[in-house]
Amino acid sequence: MTDIMDAATRSRLMARVRATDTKPEIALRRALFALGFRYRLYRKDLPGKPDIVLPKYHAVIFIHGCFWHGHDCELFRLPKTRPEFWQAKIDANRARDARNRARLEEAGWRSLEIWECAMRGHGRWEFDQLVRAVSDWLVSNHGSTEVHGRA
Ligand SMILES: [Zn+2]
Repeated sequence: MTDIMDAATRSRLMARVRATDTKPEIALRRALFALGFRYRLYRKDLPGKPDIVLPKYHAVIFIHGCFWHGHDCELFRLPKTRPEFWQAKIDANRARDARNRARLEEAGWRSLEIWECAMRGHGRWEFDQLVRAVSDWLVSNHGSTEVHGRA
């Protein structure tokens, strides 16, 4: 397959690929640990390999990049090069996310999806408020939900 993406487009996209171990995610993990939450990371045996797994709370956390997971927000912009290609890829990712959530729920896991825009960009949360929202959800009996930016 010929790669027709120009270098600038590619480097812009690749910069977004590393969704794991980004700084806000590490900061969130540390904050949860400091509050006494214990977790596992990227459990491969669970659908979608959740970023953070908290067995005691029957809870998993996904940190979703707004581009790859197709979030309708200010951080999402379809590349001008081959937009149909990217749209199809992103649609497939969204469908897979939905399947993973359903499979997790069938297995008794609650999912919290934290969108990138909750941690980055104009609408990001104050970090302490985000940590409080996450920890409140963990100790609650609430079902799957998501946190996104306020822009
Ligand atoms: Zn977003």
